[in-house]
Amino acid sequence: MYIVCIVDLCNSFTVSSSRFSQWIFREVKWILFVIDGACKHSGNCCKSIQISYDFFPIKTINRFNAICNHDSNMTRFIPNVKNDAIDFFDCRCLTSDNYCSSYQSRPKFCVQYPRNILFSDAQLYEGCGYYLKQVIYLPFFSSSSLKKKIMCFKFNNHLS
Ligand code: SF4
Ligand code: SF4
Repeated sequence: MYIVCIVDLCNSFTVSSSRFSQWIFREVKWILFVIDGACKHSGNCCKSIQISYDFFPIKTINRFNAICNHDSNMTRFIPNVKNDAIDFFDCRCLTSDNYCSSYQSRPKFCVQYPRNILFSDAQLYEGCGYYLKQVIYLPFFSSSSLKKKIMCFKFNNHLS
């Protein structure tokens, strides 16, 4: 932990590589936080959602169709279009009591939620039964940009 923070400090005073500081931020999240709780079946991670595929959000019907052509697992999603762009997706597999009817074969990003908030830009959904817990704190000498990123991350995931 101390070593990662020292490396980050050196980076911020020398090359200031944003890719490197982004990588450090993700590494630090794994050390500082754990995810606790359990699913309470709000269904919020399956309704009106944004979907990224190969690291980019799916915004057009053409791209969505192309993805579905080579990955039939994605055909479960229903795009909702607004002003010629995909606004959000719903999922055919969500039951009326907010269970997944295709749990064993759900897509990778469904499997990864909520752990993915620690290694991507994803956030906990409103009303989610899982929550973020801080187990370690940043050392006092950490860079101000790292401190700011951690503060925003906590705020965005309802941990004040
Ligand atoms: S596949 Fe299951 S877990 Fe994934 S969005 Fe649909 S209902 Fe939710
Ligand atoms: S948002 Fe959280 S509580 Fe709601 S269905 Fe998804 S995992 Fe469960």
